[in-house]
Amino acid sequence: METKSVKAYGTTGAKELLQEMTIKRRALLPHDVEMEILFCGICHSDLHQAHNDFGGSTYPMVPGHEIVGKITAVGEHVKNFKIGDLAGVGCIIDSCRECEYCERSEEMYCAEETLSFNSPDKYLGGMTLGGYAETYVADERYVLHIPENLDLASAAPLLCAGITVYSPFKHWNIGVGSKVGVLGIGGLGHVAIKIAKGLGADVIVFTTSETKVADAKRLGADDAVLTKDDEQLKRYIGQLDMVLDTVSAPHDVNVYLNQLKPEGTVVLVGLPNQPLPINPFNVVRGRRSFAGSNIGGIKETQEMLDFCGKHNITADIELVNIQDINTAYDRLINGDVHYRFVIDMASLKG
Ligand SMILES: [Zn+2]
Ligand SMILES: [Zn+2]
Repeated sequence: METKSVKAYGTTGAKELLQEMTIKRRALLPHDVEMEILFCGICHSDLHQAHNDFGGSTYPMVPGHEIVGKITAVGEHVKNFKIGDLAGVGCIIDSCRECEYCERSEEMYCAEETLSFNSPDKYLGGMTLGGYAETYVADERYVLHIPENLDLASAAPLLCAGITVYSPFKHWNIGVGSKVGVLGIGGLGHVAIKIAKGLGADVIVFTTSETKVADAKRLGADDAVLTKDDEQLKRYIGQLDMVLDTVSAPHDVNVYLNQLKPEGTVVLVGLPNQPLPINPFNVVRGRRSFAGSNIGGIKETQEMLDFCGKHNITADIELVNIQDINTAYDRLINGDVHYRFVIDMASLKG
């Protein structure tokens, strides 16, 4: 298969720093589009996979699945994009297209889904290479339209963080009149506050950090509860329809099950690396649930982007140059970002 060489930033091993490298993109197939990448968000899972924290990482690896840019070429059968259009690529870039999940556009459940990096590449062999690069090539079926009114750099994190929080809100029917808890204000939590408010819900933030109480309100939350204060924790017991739990460190989920109304749900989108014990009474009484959720399908991702366009919702970001990626990773490990790093890919040309 014909290929094109492009500049990228990636890593050659779990303990190596990211560095400039040259990678190959496939020449366009009839349904493919090529985009010039203008910005790419840094997701915490980029870092976990670069460092092989989940196992199964393959090198060289180019991370990045919050990709936005401009269409620069289209295959002969492409219908929905033209050169110059704004476009985005998130976590999923291919799937079998035939199973029940693909038919419902729940591609994240397809057994043959291809992810945008560190996933078997069915065209070039080896593994897919992500968005820390000059260009991306994908079938238009998996490419998203980005609303023109949004700041493009700040919209990049919507492709992963945005859909990760939007999908559970929709699945559990959050809307006007709902009372939602958001646990943790980081890359996911801060977008969750904005989206839940956009959906019309009352939003209560739960945070361990006193400085984040003011931040929660600035981001639109109706109230913030300091989780180390037992008195404050009593304020919403038995009142919430759902708690979106974005915390990736070990924590006591029973505290949040207790905040739920009967039939309410705590939905985990963080990935703590240890089991989370649940007191049976907290789910048996009131038929309450503890559930999880992982990104969302392509159709719902487009719906989320259009919703964010309508409500002018983007992430709060810090723009970094690609040459500063290793420092950004260190700062991400230390939680030193408000609230998402986005790479200005123009810096890769320099
Ligand atoms: Zn991500
Ligand atoms: Zn499928």
